[in-house]
Amino acid sequence: MKLNKKQREELRMKFGGRCAYCGEILTARFHVDHVEPVLRNISKSYAMERPENNTLENLYPACIPCNLYKASCSVELFRERIATQVDVTRRASRSYRTAEVFGLVKPTGTPVVFWFEKYQREDAA
Ligand SMILES: [Zn+2]
Repeated sequence: MKLNKKQREELRMKFGGRCAYCGEILTARFHVDHVEPVLRNISKSYAMERPENNTLENLYPACIPCNLYKASCSVELFRERIATQVDVTRRASRSYRTAEVFGLVKPTGTPVVFWFEKYQREDAA
């Protein structure tokens, strides 16, 4: 879906001008994320496999790192991937393990809550 300038600006402001996922303030260079992925088939010139998800309502504004990391995940799969990052980092990094052993970092077990969820809650209150 090709957005015009006005639609793009409205999308940027959908959650207060912040990334729908991490809450970073968005610059003009934000990405347009399909919340429910359209899935692109690499072998068919990136044709959409779920074109029914290519609607204005299914678009969220996202910072570039969140959009690239989410890739073709659903919201719940994206949440699960983020939730594994402490374990992934612990396994991959001796520095992290050292910092953890000496009490410099401590995982909190905080559930992953996206900005759009907090924003909609505040909006409703
Ligand atoms: Zn983000």
